[in-house]
Amino acid sequence: MSHPKNEQTLVIVKPDGVQRSLIGEIVRRYEQSGLKLVAIKMLIPSSDTAREHYMIGGEEWLENVGKKASEAYERKGEKSPYATHRENGLAVLDACSTYLSAGPIIAMIWEGNQAVGVVRKITGGTEPLSSDVGTIRGDLTIDSFKMADTDGRAVRNLIHASGSTEEAEKEIAIWFKDEEIVSYRHLNEAMLYDVNLDGILE
Ligand code: GDP
Ligand code: MG
Repeated sequence: MSHPKNEQTLVIVKPDGVQRSLIGEIVRRYEQSGLKLVAIKMLIPSSDTAREHYMIGGEEWLENVGKKASEAYERKGEKSPYATHRENGLAVLDACSTYLSAGPIIAMIWEGNQAVGVVRKITGGTEPLSSDVGTIRGDLTIDSFKMADTDGRAVRNLIHASGSTEEAEKEIAIWFKDEEIVSYRHLNEAMLYDVNLDGILE
């Protein structure tokens, strides 16, 4: 098994994050955690790339995201307009790809101890209204499933962050070529990972 400190995860600042002038604040939060930035670029995704990105989770993702969406209807005391979770999932896929390809984004790879989990914690839950205070989605925006569903669009939550190491690996391959990923030693790593903290004392 590869050492936990070598884990990588994909983060995308979605079009609303760029337009709200939050790139710096978002990068700061991941950077200050101790994770290492190993790739970063700005681009406008095609809607095909955006769909490919969301479909890497395959049928299971469609089913889960559809289930999450229909449960949100139920919590509001309403019934989902879709017959199955999958159909609800397909509608979410359309909405998500439209959102992600609406304008420039920042794609990044962050590396470090259990980077997927660390990034998800800092990012917060999917819905800004209910995500924890102290997280990016909880602090920096105000969207909700209720408003997004009323307007028939994806919830605007500033960030995409990989949900698992398997997802991260597949997503990184969609957004980055090998030569765009930089291998280097960061000074922080001596404090985060050295077993004996060598090198503090003269
Ligand atoms: P994430 O991993 O927390 O980003 O959430 P998912 O992978 O489950 O969903 C992908 C994206 O779809 C989210 O970031 C949202 O922009 C959008 N989304 C997810 N669930 C819903 C929903 O129930 N309603 C709406 N309107 N958008 C959703
Ligand atoms: Mg996800």
